[in-house]
Amino acid sequence: MSSEKVIIVGAGVAGLSLAIMLAEQNIESQVLESRQRFDGPTSGVRISAEGVKILRLMKMDAIGEDTQRVDLRFGGLSASFSAPKRDTSAIMVTRLALHEQLMKRAHSLGICVVTGFNVAAMTESADSAEVTSDSNEKVTGTLLVGADGVGSKLRQLLNSVQSSTKTYAGYLGVGFITRDETKIEMTLHNYPGHQIGIASCGKVNEAATNKSIFMWTHIRMPEADAKLATQASVEAELARRAERWSPELRRKYELYARDAEAILAYGPIYNGKPPDRWYSSRMILIGDAAHPYGPGGQGISMALKDARALCAVIARGFAEDDKREFQRSRAQESRALGEAAEKRNSKGPSSTKWGILAEGVAMKAVEIFTRGTLEF
Ligand SMILES: Cc1cc2nc3c(=O)[nH]c(=O)nc-3n(C[C@H](O)[C@H](O)[C@H](O)COP(=O)(O)OP(=O)(O)OC[C@H]3O[C@@H](n4cnc5c(N)ncnc54)[C@H](O)[C@@H]3O)c2cc1C
Repeated sequence: MSSEKVIIVGAGVAGLSLAIMLAEQNIESQVLESRQRFDGPTSGVRISAEGVKILRLMKMDAIGEDTQRVDLRFGGLSASFSAPKRDTSAIMVTRLALHEQLMKRAHSLGICVVTGFNVAAMTESADSAEVTSDSNEKVTGTLLVGADGVGSKLRQLLNSVQSSTKTYAGYLGVGFITRDETKIEMTLHNYPGHQIGIASCGKVNEAATNKSIFMWTHIRMPEADAKLATQASVEAELARRAERWSPELRRKYELYARDAEAILAYGPIYNGKPPDRWYSSRMILIGDAAHPYGPGGQGISMALKDARALCAVIARGFAEDDKREFQRSRAQESRALGEAAEKRNSKGPSSTKWGILAEGVAMKAVEIFTRGTLEF
């Protein structure tokens, strides 16, 4: 057993995955999480094949639904792409199902996850680090990992001279999960001013008896309006948009809207400026805390890859050179993926029929040129 005791702040994908990987190397950790419970409205996420491979190495049960294709629809035009054939496929899964499996694996390894612990401050000395909660509880360890997400407190504490708080990305993210056993490959329907995505995502959680689909969209609005959004206002906007959808998509939506157990999740989307400083002598950041870009379809795989890389750094003794290389290599990858996603998200969909048609023609050309195979 290593002599390290690692305190991990945040029981999201990054924090729990790191705890699991450390436990597999006989390194002790404790996870501190501000939330009391993990239920509440959930949404779907796509995890790339690279991320799924890491989940398998962590011995996670099969979750979600395989997805190897993305279909793009632009009115009457469509373009279809598949990922290069590999032994592992990307999946669509609910956050709840993923979290449930991570917690199950963490408990099976005897990892202690403390809930209701909202980290408010930290201090470090030459050989230890200590965090204090907002109710003045203290936990001490030899290392401290900030896996506390896009609004990371630990990022702010580590970068006090830099403004690194989260910033509004300009839109409300809306996700809708409802029962549907029919397999739907990830399909993005483009309409003037908005895009609708739909895909099968497997069971909402382990206890569910049916499979579900996930339908999502973005609603552009000022932050103040996004904070005031209600279930009724979001449903009204979806119904208004549905009037413009293809008969096939509208029929599905009307069916879904009647499902009393459907789950609607919505919220303002935030990202932030990646900080200059990812680590100090006893502390380091991973996941969205280190690279807080908005949704880009890679955040979970990035968190898993960060966890794998950091586990190796800790197992080797948390040396200065290893930490520097961790920041350099992980920042390089997150910058490439995150900035591309930010550009896509901030551009927004075309607002005219002609713009949509032009995009459709361009995508059709890409489909022909790449023979319908793309990394995504
Ligand atoms: C709308 C939306 C859609 C997305 N879609 C996708 C997708 O399809 N595919 C994909 O790969 N990624 C997607 N992402 C990104 C992905 O969700 C994140 O990149 C990923 O969850 C990051 O994991 P994390 O563990 O770093 O952070 P989080 O999952 O945010 O976990 C951080 C944890 O820290 C806790 N915490 C925060 N502050 C404190 C504190 N002070 N003390 C203690 N605990 C604290 C939080 O409660 C939380 O549990 C999406 C993001 C959004 C917003």
